[in-house]
Amino acid sequence: MHWLIGVAQADVTPREPLWLGGYGGRSRPADGILHPLRTAALAVTDAAGRRGVFISSDQMGFAPETVRQIQDALHRDLGLSPADIFLTASHNHCGPVLSGALIDYYGMTADEWAAVDRYTREYVEVVVRLAGEAFNHAKPGELLSGEGRAEFAVNRRNNRETEVSALLEEGRPLLGPTDHSVPVLAARSTAGDWMAIAYGYACHPTVLSDYHWCGDYPGFAALAMEKEFPGVVPMFWTGCGGDQNPLPRRTVELCRTYGEELAESVRSTVRAGLERIEPELRTAYQRVELPFEHTLDPSEFETHLDSPNSIRRRWSRRWRERLLEGTQVPSSVEYPVRVWRLGKRHLWIGLGAEAVVDYALRFRREYGPHTWICGYSDEMLGYVPSRRVWEEGGYEGGFLFEYGHPAERWRGDVEDRITAGVAGLVDAVFQE
Ligand SMILES: [Zn+2]
Repeated sequence: MHWLIGVAQADVTPREPLWLGGYGGRSRPADGILHPLRTAALAVTDAAGRRGVFISSDQMGFAPETVRQIQDALHRDLGLSPADIFLTASHNHCGPVLSGALIDYYGMTADEWAAVDRYTREYVEVVVRLAGEAFNHAKPGELLSGEGRAEFAVNRRNNRETEVSALLEEGRPLLGPTDHSVPVLAARSTAGDWMAIAYGYACHPTVLSDYHWCGDYPGFAALAMEKEFPGVVPMFWTGCGGDQNPLPRRTVELCRTYGEELAESVRSTVRAGLERIEPELRTAYQRVELPFEHTLDPSEFETHLDSPNSIRRRWSRRWRERLLEGTQVPSSVEYPVRVWRLGKRHLWIGLGAEAVVDYALRFRREYGPHTWICGYSDEMLGYVPSRRVWEEGGYEGGFLFEYGHPAERWRGDVEDRITAGVAGLVDAVFQE
């Protein structure tokens, strides 16, 4: 009894000049490269023939339309359902802007957006091809799990960035919840060769903010992994890092150091011995309705037309035009949640967008230590606060306009809705 496992990866560094995604303050396209951007697919088939594909990428985040294109193509080509397609973005801020994502964020021209659309179309084809190749080249192997730790994620809501270095030097504690676990999922052929090693960490890839393509700390971690495990495909996923930053930051040296710390955690976890996962896969997926607290009306958009914030100006102008055209303003968003069960007890929960760390801590409490939580899977829809963060307010508690929604905040029951959705899926993957 074994898994069938296949892996494929590609260099997806843009070949024409594109803007880098994730920061509103950049003013021009990328002008260099630190290391190539990656996307990889890990295809697994269990002993009963049930299939799933995990896709990791050095991307910022995907618009709903892009996710749908990938899901439709993989359904057409491979018969996979959305439950079986675990698509993730590392939330890299040194990768390209993608079509439809953070559309009010960037001061880009129509030509620059056209280049983004060309790249995104090609990118969708690459993802679909990689998933197909991974299944086509699958061979017998085993999946193994373990867990390490890394300490560089800091709760950015509870610690002032300018004070973190001093606090660390003085040995004083940093504040606020974090998730410093490094879950590890390793795939090895029956011949004993490492095929892929996937690992997660709950922290924004935002060490660097310049004009060079790179994968930020996950990119440096992948380079270190390749040195340590020749021939392996490294696959990073970001956990519930919506409120977590790598601090201190902003130098290539720190970026490399964090990447190497992460890779070292994976290496020592693998060396310490991993737990074998039975070849049994169940997948479940659902879209949970997340209502906005209040949808803006035309007169409310008007008040932002001359805002000093350029994102707000673009956002209010765009919505005003759409309202004048008679477009219906949505009052909620469909939020994707996914659960995979690997073996008898490993749960892998995939949440859309930028979930804060409270979600990971809660799910581990509720479902036990064999639970991994992946943020930034499927669509980038905004920050996803817990009840606590929603009540505290601040950046991760709202700011939905930055993601182009016609609202400022979710309704206060966002955590209840998401955890209820996940609970239903967990029940589903434990049913025979
Ligand atoms: Zn973010």
